[in-house]
Amino acid sequence: MAKINDNYLKLKAGYLFPEIARRVNAFAQANPDAAIIRLGIGDVTEPLPEACRLAMVQAVAEMGNRETFKGYGPEQGYEWLREKIAQHDFQARGCDIDASEIFISDGSKCDCGNILDIFGKDNTIAVTDPVYPVYVDTNVMAGNTGEVNEKGEYAGLVYLPISAENNFTAEIPNQRVDLIYLCFPNNPTGATATKEHLQAWVDYARAHNSIIFFDAAYEAFISDSNLPHSIYEIPGARECAIEFRSFSKNAGFTGTRCALTVVPKTLTAKASDGSDVELWKLWNRRQSTKFNGVSYIVQRGAEAVYSDAGQAQVKALINFYMENAKIIREQLTAAGLQVYGGVNAPYVWVKTPNGLSSWDFFDKLLHTCNVVGTPGSGFGAAGEGYFRISAFNSRQNVETAMARIIDKFKA
Ligand SMILES: *Cc1c(COP(=O)(O)O)cnc(C)c1O
Repeated sequence: MAKINDNYLKLKAGYLFPEIARRVNAFAQANPDAAIIRLGIGDVTEPLPEACRLAMVQAVAEMGNRETFKGYGPEQGYEWLREKIAQHDFQARGCDIDASEIFISDGSKCDCGNILDIFGKDNTIAVTDPVYPVYVDTNVMAGNTGEVNEKGEYAGLVYLPISAENNFTAEIPNQRVDLIYLCFPNNPTGATATKEHLQAWVDYARAHNSIIFFDAAYEAFISDSNLPHSIYEIPGARECAIEFRSFSKNAGFTGTRCALTVVPKTLTAKASDGSDVELWKLWNRRQSTKFNGVSYIVQRGAEAVYSDAGQAQVKALINFYMENAKIIREQLTAAGLQVYGGVNAPYVWVKTPNGLSSWDFFDKLLHTCNVVGTPGSGFGAAGEGYFRISAFNSRQNVETAMARIIDKFKA
């Protein structure tokens, strides 16, 4: 008799985005003339940089020629791409990261989940609340949690609340945790971490032999030159941190798929016999066995991000979205709303007015302005009373949506 992984039954049925779709569809049916603007989705809208497209076209031509055709590539990614990443993203910032410590993949979402393959079952795991749901659900699937309560919290996870009171950066726990997920710049709150804050986490992790999973998917949106882009800018991080990066949000690769994970060779964790094992070796083994690399064509596209033209085009893309974020911030503030984030991140985190719940504010915005955002409570219990607006959209949509909000909300 075939048995399932019962842990999947613990998952709260995909609630957030299906529920948003249900409410939007019901409203659209009742109001067929309403021009609904969706500022809820965390997906990019602007086309791929030309440098990336040209590199991929050339790579396709190479695939059509017996002399330059490529079959299976290295499971870890091509050396030329890993070298460029090591130089531009890490060594240029003073981070001691070697190309051999970089693993190319088809997405940070998968890597964030897959990384649990190499960790044991009795780790204490900490996530912030609110949080990117992938960190939580992959731990549920892996059997690292108990059941969910009515607030959406899973037994066995340590939730670190983040709110305006702590600048959306979690307090360092006073208990021992083994695995810690940090995401800066943050999805959903748009918050950033200073070097001092990350240093406190690195010091904590080293004191407790913990591992930090650092998700830097939005590092390219940092404009403040004092803020760290990588956790490896922090002394000691090579001994306690794995970093996830992606081409999805900086170069618009959400549909093209390329990302990377950094596992320093100095990183170890305990085997059950008490010995120290290099995590690099385990991840290398895991990837070599379960993964066959990202397509040659896509890796050439990612490599082009580091060309002069690619760098200029990516910068222009980021500037475009960050101008959207600035407009959103300014207009919502003018409409009398309290906003956070949106300065070094493409998300604006809004405090709902008059104590409205996240979902009540969602309905109000949908019904009065025909604008869709994402209820903060969908990212965790402590997201209640907040609302996420994404800067990933056309200028026209952002301006129209903000004009409607100003019109309805300005006292
Ligand atoms: C978009 C995003 C990613 C990137 O995921 P990919 O699978 O590389 O597209 C990673 N982390 C967070 C928090 C994100 O929002």
